[in-house]
Amino acid sequence: METRLRIPTQSWMTAPEIRAVVSALTEGGSEARFVGGCVRDAVLGRLAKDIDLATHLPPEAVVERVERAGLHAVPTGIQHGTVTVVCGRAHFEVTTLRLDVETFGRHARVAFTNDWAEDAARRDFTINALFCSPPRSGDGECVVHDYFGGVADLKAGRVRFVGDPVRRIREDRLRLLRFFRFYAHYGRPPPDAPALKAARALAHELPLLSGERIGSEILRLLEAPSPAPVMRLMARQGVLAFVLPEAKDFARLAALVEIEREEGAAEGPGGVRRLGAVLATDATGAEAVAERLRLSNRQRDALVAVVAPAVAVATAMEPRALHSTIHRLGNETVREVALVAWAGERAVASAEEAAWRRLLVAAKTWTAPLFPLKGRDALALGVPPGPRVGELLEAVEAWWVDGDFVADRRACLERLRALLAAPGG
Ligand code: ATP
Ligand code: MG
Repeated sequence: METRLRIPTQSWMTAPEIRAVVSALTEGGSEARFVGGCVRDAVLGRLAKDIDLATHLPPEAVVERVERAGLHAVPTGIQHGTVTVVCGRAHFEVTTLRLDVETFGRHARVAFTNDWAEDAARRDFTINALFCSPPRSGDGECVVHDYFGGVADLKAGRVRFVGDPVRRIREDRLRLLRFFRFYAHYGRPPPDAPALKAARALAHELPLLSGERIGSEILRLLEAPSPAPVMRLMARQGVLAFVLPEAKDFARLAALVEIEREEGAAEGPGGVRRLGAVLATDATGAEAVAERLRLSNRQRDALVAVVAPAVAVATAMEPRALHSTIHRLGNETVREVALVAWAGERAVASAEEAAWRRLLVAAKTWTAPLFPLKGRDALALGVPPGPRVGELLEAVEAWWVDGDFVADRRACLERLRALLAAPGG
């Protein structure tokens, strides 16, 4: 049964790019509706990440109309009915109403339909199965179409499968992880019992998903406002053991999220700092996680840096040691390491809060002066070109760092001369 609800028109709905696509799709009485995440977020008054549209027009007709309107159409998944419409810098996915006739793991044989309810029924969660008719020009409100009680679920923080959770996860096991991700972002306790039961029963099939899929779901879950209780739930339900057995330090993750909030420390490259905080492993273990989840090289380096720092960062550090660490690892890495180390301390005892705060300020603002010598300074002192030049400079630089960067050019030159004069120099 369909329920209709009026919600205020969101500003993105009337953006010129959206209007252009909607009018191309609805010309001559055809219908198009916003669908999925953008409607869910509109009902909550949150900003949508990306905008998806559904229509009963077949994909070829979508391409034709979009091109006729002077927009660019990319047949991204045209067999499944999905066309990407590019309009300037914006792009939207337009998908033909369909039902999954037969599913094989992550793939499905589909049939197109004219029935909005059938399309809603193939979607994963009731809160993701909402449509919204684009407002007519000047309308302050628009209509949400809800076939499975998604609006009530959304308001109550219930993440619920459309239909039987076991069947829906059997059709596509990624939904098992999506359940926990959407619960982390939109749910409130208690989690849906039938969904949990199905998750427990089918978790052993998760390793059949690609590492990349698992990784992207976990990172997106970790980006939720409060991911630690959900990770703990996944551990208790025996789900985490099949995707991320190394995740054990939920207290450190919870403390990190708290500290991030206090410090306004937005999470950097996609949840990696949080992933590092929840892992109880060493450098080799972190490398293995990065490999398994197909993280980028940058993400891998960031992960290893916080899981197994090259230099331990602590509030007991003398300024000199902190400065040489910043010089060696860079401001960004020291800050990441400090946040996770602070969280580790807070998770088990009362942390030196003020000292950590000062350390973070230093990690952010302190920059080493430029090392005042160049290779030509050694050449000018008669050192022949070759590897010896670099070795000498490195030796002077290590001395300069050790002295907390105080020595100026003259002092460094003197040190270089002294090294040259020393036996074996
Ligand atoms: P986000 O804000 O994270 O992008 P979203 O709801 O838009 O959330 P998408 O992964 O972009 O999620 O998918 C768009 C819509 O497609 C979902 O809202 C849902 O209706 C449907 N969908 C996506 N993946 C699945 C799936 N694996 N099984 C069933 N329906 C799905
Ligand atoms: Mg989306």
